[in-house]
Amino acid sequence: LFITFEGGDGSGKTTQSGLLAAALSDRGRSVLHTREPGGTEIGVTIRELVLHHRGEIDARAEALLYAADRAQHIATVVRPALAAGTVVLQDRYLDSSVAYQGMGRGLGRDRIRSLSLWAADGLLPDLTVLLDLSVEDGRARLDRARTRYDRLESEAAEFHERVRRVYLDSAEAEPERFLVVDAARPPEDIASAVLERVLQLVGS
Ligand code: C5P
Ligand code: MG
Repeated sequence: LFITFEGGDGSGKTTQSGLLAAALSDRGRSVLHTREPGGTEIGVTIRELVLHHRGEIDARAEALLYAADRAQHIATVVRPALAAGTVVLQDRYLDSSVAYQGMGRGLGRDRIRSLSLWAADGLLPDLTVLLDLSVEDGRARLDRARTRYDRLESEAAEFHERVRRVYLDSAEAEPERFLVVDAARPPEDIASAVLERVLQLVGS
């Protein structure tokens, strides 16, 4: 079972995937909690580049760096785990690329989706949890949490509005894959809604 968590910066992806990991582990499941970018040794280097490189990064180059991170991560970490029967919970996946590089950077949603699927050799999640939050609320959470913004977080509010809209469009296009939750709700409420859906999937 492959479950991804998507949503804007500050929407609570890491909190929710962590809570689900704990709940599934408690039920005796083998769980891998991972993320993109940065889920492999190569990915850690790519993450540092795409998030903190000081000069310009061309939009296509940025898209290919995320794709390279994804290819390495899916081939060497995610697929072996899935093959061993482990439940993989992942913060960000191809829907992030479709939203940030496809729409945010204007490279085209279909093209970036194809690139991502090529990088991942066709792997789609069984479930994608979209944590939907207004751009203002996301920003306020980030402001409370940290002092340094990465390259993407530093983008203007319009960029993040586009990202939010694409996420919601993607969810509408694939309603059976997506669970959309209001990320402004209390974390425990969100966690139980997510767990309920996941338990339906695993059938226990
Ligand atoms: O969620 P996390 O903090 O790990 O994401 C790292 C950064 O990378 C975020 O600022 C996010 O906007 C950006 N990102 C992106 N395109 C992706 C994945 C992440 O722009 N495909
Ligand atoms: Mg972030």
